[in-house]
Amino acid sequence: MKKFIIALFAVLLLYSCKNSNTTVDPSKTEKSTQNSSQKPDFAIIIHGGAGTILRKNMTPEKEAAYKAKLEEAIRVGYNILKNGGTSLDAVTKTINVLEDSPLFNAGKGAVFTNAETNELDASIMDGKTLNAGASASTKTVRNPIDLARAVMEKSKHVMLSGEGAEIFAKEQGLAIVDPSYFYTEKRFESLQRVKAREEAKAGKIDTESAFLDFYDADIKNSKFGTVGCAALDKDGNLAAGTSTGGMTNKRWGRIGDAPIIGSGTYANNATCAVSSTGWGEYFIRAQVAHDISALMDYKGLSLKEASKTVLDKVADLGGDGGIVAVDKDGNMVAEFNTAGMYRAQMNDNGELIIGIYKE
Ligand code: ASP
Repeated sequence: MKKFIIALFAVLLLYSCKNSNTTVDPSKTEKSTQNSSQKPDFAIIIHGGAGTILRKNMTPEKEAAYKAKLEEAIRVGYNILKNGGTSLDAVTKTINVLEDSPLFNAGKGAVFTNAETNELDASIMDGKTLNAGASASTKTVRNPIDLARAVMEKSKHVMLSGEGAEIFAKEQGLAIVDPSYFYTEKRFESLQRVKAREEAKAGKIDTESAFLDFYDADIKNSKFGTVGCAALDKDGNLAAGTSTGGMTNKRWGRIGDAPIIGSGTYANNATCAVSSTGWGEYFIRAQVAHDISALMDYKGLSLKEASKTVLDKVADLGGDGGIVAVDKDGNMVAEFNTAGMYRAQMNDNGELIIGIYKE
């Protein structure tokens, strides 16, 4: 009888764990699963951009809208993983939801270039094969992460750009849209504000002043919303992807870190999968995503230690931003040195953690 009661108790405990579906208070977002003793079957973590995201600048409605979209997106990937799907599918489909939302600087809602166009960048990497794909500066491909994936799976190349990438996308049957599809008033107004300030400064815009403007706080602060995802599937395969419109007022065909394998995105089954967001130039110079993996690989650092070390390096150079990552054991980390980063993570228990601010 005693044995029967213990067994019954164990079954009930297991059942309640598997079915828990908790939205954890955002104040607990700093929690990582770093120290969990049991390796989860799968895990997924996303970001929607890092920057000066402050509670005082946020309305309850806006905050609710961001959280709802983050949750909708991560649940898509979670369900794929739960049903035995691949981390590559989870990453792609999760990012599609964020690309289709005007809230984020990726797909619809991308920031504007100086020429008042939207030029999109994306990349994806398969941790099992170290295969990777990326696209840069496309104006007509509705979901750039799909293009990055097609480059990885359907071409012999890793990175395609501009018109050539668009021709390839069309050949692959990907959704093509008129460039006006990416327009949002909010992003267009951001560009106009930045341009008005540029014009207010007397004199013509030479290369040096344009460079300074590009790094102006206002410009940096109007570009939030790059999106990214890292996932571990039930087969132990890691994948990561990133998609962005880049930085407001970018010129001269500027390309940031998002489509650069090793900077914006990296995945390796031996270590981790990482997606970055932030001041792209610094993330390229610090080779953020690959460096995190390398520190784990060569120095045996934990994901948390490696992420912190590399973001400190970015800060030392003068840059800022953040990363989301998952390691081969399912530990998840959301690390950033900005005021905030839109982010969410889910483990195999269905426990959901959503965060926006630092605290
Ligand atoms: N990293 C992106 C870029 O530099 C921007 C961002 O993540 O906010 O293009």
